[in-house]
This record gives sequence, C-alpha cells and structure tokens, in this order.
Amino acid sequence: MKKLTFIIIAILMLDFTSAYGWGAKGHDVVAAIAEQNLTPKAKRKISKLLDGKSIVYYSSWMDNIQNSPYWEYGYNKTKTWHYANVDKGLTYETMTKNPDGDVVKGLEMLTREMMDNYDDLTDSMRVDYLKMIVHMVGDLHCPMHAGRLSDRGGNRTKVVWFREETNIHSVWDSKMIESARKWSYTEWCDNLDRKSRKYRKEISKGSYEDWFDDTVEDAARIYEYVESSGEIVPVLSYQFVYDFSPLLEEQLLNAGYRLAYVLNTIFK
Ligand SMILES: [Zn+2]
Repeated sequence: MKKLTFIIIAILMLDFTSAYGWGAKGHDVVAAIAEQNLTPKAKRKISKLLDGKSIVYYSSWMDNIQNSPYWEYGYNKTKTWHYANVDKGLTYETMTKNPDGDVVKGLEMLTREMMDNYDDLTDSMRVDYLKMIVHMVGDLHCPMHAGRLSDRGGNRTKVVWFREETNIHSVWDSKMIESARKWSYTEWCDNLDRKSRKYRKEISKGSYEDWFDDTVEDAARIYEYVESSGEIVPVLSYQFVYDFSPLLEEQLLNAGYRLAYVLNTIFK
C-alpha cells in the first residue's frame, strides 16, 4: 500500500511539474518586455481591464490558478494549455494532438475570442483571457514546453544540475535563468529589450504555430546536447549555461516582443 501511495504521489508530481512554464521570473521578464512595447492605447485598455495592475503582476496567475479549488470556473480545463509535447522529428502539424488542448490551440482560441467576440464576453472573461494569453505566450517560448511526449516534456530526462539531481524540464523552467544572471526581472528586461524596431517587426511575423515550431527546434538542440554527453545522467553546469544563455535570452526577448504584438493587435 505504501508503495502504491508513493507511486501515485510520484505520478501526481510529474503531472504537476510538466504543467509549469518558465518560473515566475521568466514570465515576469516576458511580461515586462511586452509592457515596455505596448502602444499607449493598448496600455490604457489593459490597465482598465486589470484595474490598474500590470500584466507583470498577473504573469504567473495561470500557473497558480490551475491547482486552485475553484473548479466551477473551469480552470482545470486549462491544465494542458501550458505546453505541447512533440516527439522527435515531428512538428506541431504532424504531432499527435492532446484532445484536452495545448498551448497553441489554447492561444489561437483565446486570441480569436478577444479579437472577434470581444463584445460578447463578460468583463471577467476578458480579464481571464488576457491573463492567460500573457502567460501562455511565455510558455510557448519555453523550450521544454515543446519537449518530447516520450519523456513528458523533459520531466523524465534526468540530469545533474551542478550538484543537484533534477530533470531537463526543470532546468529550463527556472534553474537556467537563476544561474545565468543574478538579475531581477526588471534588470533582465532592461538588458534584453534593446533591439531595433526592424527586429521587433521581423520577429513578430508568423503564427503561434510558427513560433511554437521554432521552440520545437530549440528543444531538439537541447536534447541533442544532453544526449551527446554519453552519460546516463548527464552533468550540466557552467558550460551549459554558457552555451545556452543566448537561447535563453532570445526566447525571453522574442516572447516579450511577440506578446506585445499580440496585445497591440487585440487592443487596437
Ligand atoms: Zn505555465
């Protein structure tokens, strides 16, 4: 019985970790970059919806709400909307879709509702959808949220991070950002958000699916790196931080610019 309880707890924990995205700091960085790139009009409308609070304030709301007891609001239906697990060699188009939904499908639906059905939504729905879009565009750019289905988005790919036993999903959710710099979210934002208007425009082209497929390719690079070590449990430390910091920065920045683009388009 004890063993069974242990197994059940272990399975529950796996589910729990796989649903998390960037840790709170990553989501704050993405939202802060987006906020700096909002049009005055979008800023005004969002501020009104959020009762004066910022999108940074709510950037991790969706991670917290999925485990809340308020099931009557249907938040439990969003548990799978943080990721899409894609096996090796596949893309969003060719992967087996989760019938409960995924990050791409969720974003497409929420954005469509905010663009085409805004007048029919209640205020609380508008607020919820906005908070979800803010969070999910972040998750869409988190490499292990496009990890393989076979290892549950990297949750089952064990690694040693410096001296700590963990998995590659957890490394990308929060450990990388903490090891790369000792910056606050505002310092991350100020140091990354320095690209030209041309770059911002270029990076905002394409669809959610295109952006997700880019993340799938990033995940493939990470798997390749980890597998090339030849160790059963690869040890990752300074070299990994050095090699993948540019990817971390690129994903946070692009997520921020693309989120700004999405919100500026919704709140025209
Ligand atoms: Zn998430």
